[in-house]
Amino acid sequence: METYDALLASISPASGTGRTILDPATGDAVGEAPIHSLEELEQAITDAQAAQPAWAALGHAGRSASLLKAAEAVERSAEELARLLSREQGKPLNGPNARFEVGACAAWLRVAATTPLEPETVVDDGETRAELHYKPIGVVGAIGPWNWPMMITVWQIAPALRMGNAVVVKPSEYTPLGVLALVKVINEELPEGLLTAVSGGRDVGARLAEHPAIGKIMFTGSTATGKAIIKSSAGTVKRLTLELGGNDAGIVLPDADPKAIAEDLFWGAFINTGQTCAALKRLYVHEDIYDAVCEDLVAVAKAMPMGNGLDENNVLGPLQNKAQYDVVANLVEAARASGARILLGGNPDTTKPGYFYPTTLVADIDNDNPLITEEQFGPALPIIRYSSVDEAVEKANALDVGLGASVWSGNRDAAREVAARLQAGTVWINRHGAVDPRIPFGGAKQSGYGLEFGIEGLKALGVPQVING
Ligand code: NAD
Repeated sequence: METYDALLASISPASGTGRTILDPATGDAVGEAPIHSLEELEQAITDAQAAQPAWAALGHAGRSASLLKAAEAVERSAEELARLLSREQGKPLNGPNARFEVGACAAWLRVAATTPLEPETVVDDGETRAELHYKPIGVVGAIGPWNWPMMITVWQIAPALRMGNAVVVKPSEYTPLGVLALVKVINEELPEGLLTAVSGGRDVGARLAEHPAIGKIMFTGSTATGKAIIKSSAGTVKRLTLELGGNDAGIVLPDADPKAIAEDLFWGAFINTGQTCAALKRLYVHEDIYDAVCEDLVAVAKAMPMGNGLDENNVLGPLQNKAQYDVVANLVEAARASGARILLGGNPDTTKPGYFYPTTLVADIDNDNPLITEEQFGPALPIIRYSSVDEAVEKANALDVGLGASVWSGNRDAAREVAARLQAGTVWINRHGAVDPRIPFGGAKQSGYGLEFGIEGLKALGVPQVING
């Protein structure tokens, strides 16, 4: 275990040769990130190819043992990693934020290490015996976003390593430091060259996606970049898992108890200050309880402190970057101009440093308003009134993305019936966005394809091979 300063120093380039990363809460420098070149990417891929066969030869038991040790290494450095994550990404230490994210890294490593995956006997009828095995792919590329940079890196690398692959990671250019530090800590328990983070720009991501030595890309990010990766990976017919943009709907049925659900609705929408792919982004509420839900949500939201992430009191932070801040601010302004009613927030204090946008609740808004139809990825929630469940389902399904969705009701069976009608990879009941390393997760429509987590997530990092005879 290293101190915060030593950990940061260990991933820093020679002074003046890197790119300064700024704290989104203050504008102060957090540290310098190396600017890795395409040649350094090439070297990382060569090293990965050299390290992979011996790692594959260890078998599941040997690899799992190393991954369990890696989970312990993450826990030993948890506070330093959380602090770096908080400073670089902006998310507070407390609440479902930086410490929670680092804890999730250890949890996902452990579940990837311990989930059993045996060859399946598909047919055994006396004449034919067919077995389905999963073999290592080789070298996997992992390309990630800036919102949950450490956790999503582990989502990508843990199953890849467990299945006998080497991995080259390309973190977001907005949040490279945390991922470099996390990889450094995990590498305390892995053979050299097996796992490398290459901290470059979009050109490095694009090269990784087309590189002939890469067998699979695990990608989490925007739908637009996902489409670019499909194109650039086509030349080598790469396997892809694509976790892309979302714009999740929640439907509150008329029998729900507004007070009882208000806090879970709040966190469903505002976890990580709304910068979460599977967060509640559009809330459809039955007219009978519309006013009560709005009122209770405002009361909960008002009580949630937003500010600098290192302040232990805060549970909401800034937007991670100016571009995202502008997206949210412009969409809320356009909603206001269209006649929607701002229940809370909507007026950022532009005299203070940092990309803080206040928690914003918007009522009486039309379903075709851009605040609803576009992925705003920030702390604003439009609340839409409906009068029949058919109407709510139709509106929820109207977009071309479908990552998550939720149904809120006192009657679980009624909620399940509505859930089955929603076009989304996961539909939660009386909660939203609760991911679990044992339960498959993936998108419908243009939110992507392929599953992560659980046994399905392991299978996605292997090449299926049938042995028949
Ligand atoms: P982004 O698509 O802009 O960038 C993601 C990564 O792709 C970065 O590392 C970037 O450098 C890299 N990249 C950019 N162009 C590339 C190219 N042509 N080829 C290869 N790599 C390239 O996404 P972002 O703004 O960092 O993240 C926010 C988006 O991610 C949102 O849309 C959000 O919904 C989505 N997201 C989805 C999930 C999920 O599980 N479905 C999770 C988190 C975030």
